[in-house]
Amino acid sequence: MNPDRYREVEQRLWASIGLDPIERVVTLERLGTTARILEVGEGPPILFVHGVSASGANWASLVAYLDGFRCLLLDRPGCGLSAPLDVDLSDFDRFEDVAAELVSDVLDGLDVPTAHVVATSLGGHFALRSAAAHPDRIDRMVEFGFVPGAPLTQLPMSMRIASLPGLGRLMVSIPPTRGTVRIILRQLGMGAALKDGRISPEMFDWFHALLRHTRTMRNDSNLPHEFVQKSGTGVEALPASLLAEVQCPILFAWGETDPMGGADVARSFVPLVPGAELELWPETGHAPWMEQPERAAALVSDFLADDQSGFQEVHATTSDSARGSAQRGPSETGAVADVRKILVSGCLNGRPIRFNETNVEVESAIWDRWESEGRLVSFCPELAAGFGVPRPPAEIVGTSAAVVLQRRGVVLEDNGTDVTEMFITGAELAVERAFSAGCVAAVLTDGSPSCGTTYIYDGGFAGGTTPGMGVTAQLLTDRGIAVFAESQIEQADQFLRSAPDTG
Ligand code: SF4
Repeated sequence: MNPDRYREVEQRLWASIGLDPIERVVTLERLGTTARILEVGEGPPILFVHGVSASGANWASLVAYLDGFRCLLLDRPGCGLSAPLDVDLSDFDRFEDVAAELVSDVLDGLDVPTAHVVATSLGGHFALRSAAAHPDRIDRMVEFGFVPGAPLTQLPMSMRIASLPGLGRLMVSIPPTRGTVRIILRQLGMGAALKDGRISPEMFDWFHALLRHTRTMRNDSNLPHEFVQKSGTGVEALPASLLAEVQCPILFAWGETDPMGGADVARSFVPLVPGAELELWPETGHAPWMEQPERAAALVSDFLADDQSGFQEVHATTSDSARGSAQRGPSETGAVADVRKILVSGCLNGRPIRFNETNVEVESAIWDRWESEGRLVSFCPELAAGFGVPRPPAEIVGTSAAVVLQRRGVVLEDNGTDVTEMFITGAELAVERAFSAGCVAAVLTDGSPSCGTTYIYDGGFAGGTTPGMGVTAQLLTDRGIAVFAESQIEQADQFLRSAPDTG
């Protein structure tokens, strides 16, 4: 073990993305230990809770894209450079107690009354138990990937071995090689990301150093054996009765091909968490934020920045044990809506995420009212599909969005690259987000090949326009969601006032 060596490699990771986190060590009174926390940025606090055999730095690529938040990256006790717990976590009852206290104890140590939480995998399990035990401490939560406690499809071989008494201890006593690290990442469904460079050399080195130079893997191998069995055999390690106690709004961003449990597991698990929304990421494994950090940051930012007044009504209602009352009902994906929400383009009054790094200002009292009512669900189909900012301009060429959706027409970038499939993916994700959030209408940025509702550019890349819709606007319309341009906010408001309450 060589923690100094680990710290060096970790610092190189941060330097590679131009960040220099503040390091804190806080006392966890109830858990009887201390924890190391790396802090980046300013704004509303987000506590990040990592999964098995990781540390707070595993969020580095995501926070590099996340502006406007105070990101608090926890090294879970026993992981990274945090001290271990003086508790036998192999005892499932003790494990449950620790999980229930972790988030609130860390927030107490930081003197932070409430925070958002972003978590993954085992960290997600901790966060859900903490949210159920202390519903007043977590504002909103984003969970990435499979959560242990959901039905487990397959445990990666390395973790299966680590969970076996004796063999596990032997395995963690052997310093992992770079080859071992590659195998672990592939088993987590990140083979493609490794191959095409989305896992940077610095990130790879950090993971190798974490496993080689700290006691992270050894300490995490002490997790309850029953825990793995409970997941594997379908005995609920996260019982529905506990999940029903979770009150904060939660968005699950789940890789469809997560090797531990993909789309089918997500669809059966997420509706157990009242009001939770689900976003499935195609061809993505167990660590979606590592595979697509920019998209993950956009998702976190949009979901956590949503006005919270609508969800405060949920808190008030659910604290009366009236969860699931007739005022709300499950949507197609199992989410629960309180008021009729409006899907809005992420660049409207939002971040500069258009192809040319601009946003679109909206000055409207109606918009302000919607915002104060917590009804805006901000979403960018192009970022969701994996485009970056800036990106080349793209146009639907010589046809309509309806024809593109039938795959009989194309969307091209000005350099001739065919990006049709990415535009269709973005449209499908927008529909999924709209349904999961309970949106009945959308207000979108006009002229965009995704979001245009009254006109789009004509495919000549010379500034010419033509009446028509973008691909996302068309698919939303096809799926029964009324779309309006940002110049039609009054019409949208009239529509919402006259539309039947589907909530
Ligand atoms: Fe805005 Fe839509 Fe373009 Fe995203 S795809 S930048 S939300 S217009």
